Amino acid sequence: MQIELKSPAEGRFYLPAEETLDSAALGALQRRKLAALLEQVRAGNAFYRQKLDGVSFDPMRDPLDRLPLTTRGELEADQTAHPPYGQNLTYPLDHYTRLHQTSGTGGRPMRWLDTRQSWEWFARCWGIILTSSGVTSSDRVLFAFSFGPFVGFWGAFEGACALGTLCLPAGGMSTVARLRMLLENKATVVCCTPTYALRMAEVAAEEKIDLPGSSVRLLIVAGEPGGSIPETRRRIESAWGARLIDHTGMTEMGAVGFECLPRPGQGVHVIESEYIPEVIDPTTQKVLPDGATGELVLTNLGRWGSPLIRYRTGDQVRLTRGRCECGRCFARLEGGILGRVDDMFVVRGNNVFPTAVEAVLRRFSELGEFRLTVHEDGPLTQVLLEIEPMPDVEAHAQLCDRVGQALHQSLSFRAQVVAVPAGSLPRFELKAHRFIRKRTTG
Ligand SMILES: [Zn+2]
Repeated sequence: MQIELKSPAEGRFYLPAEETLDSAALGALQRRKLAALLEQVRAGNAFYRQKLDGVSFDPMRDPLDRLPLTTRGELEADQTAHPPYGQNLTYPLDHYTRLHQTSGTGGRPMRWLDTRQSWEWFARCWGIILTSSGVTSSDRVLFAFSFGPFVGFWGAFEGACALGTLCLPAGGMSTVARLRMLLENKATVVCCTPTYALRMAEVAAEEKIDLPGSSVRLLIVAGEPGGSIPETRRRIESAWGARLIDHTGMTEMGAVGFECLPRPGQGVHVIESEYIPEVIDPTTQKVLPDGATGELVLTNLGRWGSPLIRYRTGDQVRLTRGRCECGRCFARLEGGILGRVDDMFVVRGNNVFPTAVEAVLRRFSELGEFRLTVHEDGPLTQVLLEIEPMPDVEAHAQLCDRVGQALHQSLSFRAQVVAVPAGSLPRFELKAHRFIRKRTTG
């Protein structure tokens, strides 16, 4: 498969034909791609051959839920039983050209191989994300990301290269060195996590660097839900004086979602020309109607070398459809990823996601980093919130009180709020670990 990116000179808001199909045509395209994928998979992929054994499914007609779901646990068990790569490989091992592994936040890191064709598909998905954000060959894109085995922005780098932008790989550098690189090369776009966008802004302030005065006009963030949390994105946008674009993706799935320009902060589109999204009830595993909140299930249509069919992402979403102001009929995840299904905790009868806590905390400009620890001791759940007041804030006790009240008003639970010295909580470059869960038995 070729990377099919037209010259960006053809239009800043470049919309390839597949992106503007109506829902019926999009559905037909997905089914054709699914049929082609299943043919490859049934021929050569031991993992899926086993799962699909005895399943009668006509890819052009049958409802998708005739196919079994795939779970992270199954993939991990497969890699344990067939080390080191497992059996979700459609082609012989010598066809594979890249290894990545998951960041390990959901448990043990998982290895993921791609063929040249699969990797080109990954980069092409990123091409859609970049062009929809108005990135052109005139842009200079800085990747504030360690180019290690975690897939992170590797695909973005490849997609941006294919688009003809000047790509600035800022891996293995201190934050100060990255900021200098950004200024010296007049970067116009930065790709990083929301947390790291805030960290760079924090260091820029210490170094008296005027980020809003820099040439950066766009930040593409991924890896955490922050890009769609209103207060987090407002904080990042004001610190940088640049528009933020949220993106969602997963090592084992690919580059999935993007925020379109006309709907800032309202969620992300799923690239439906390359993925089939469904939403299920995580308990009953039944498919839910559009507009209902549930767990996102995805099928990727172009990563034939290591595909995922009806994969339970563990992400809590609300999916809607209809033609968007941007001209696309791609499904939308309203508000982005609302939280991880596994991260939800229950306190005083309320279901709470750590993302909801973050949304409250980011309203406080006097507050920097934070850490949330949930102790689940039998029927009583206790929540400890450590906050770092900004260096110029003196009345720590008052700030803790106000934060505690805001949490109680918004989320109906009381947390023990404690101020800790500025700079004492960990800083993150990849996925932030601000949420700790402690369970005691008995
Ligand atoms: Zn749109």
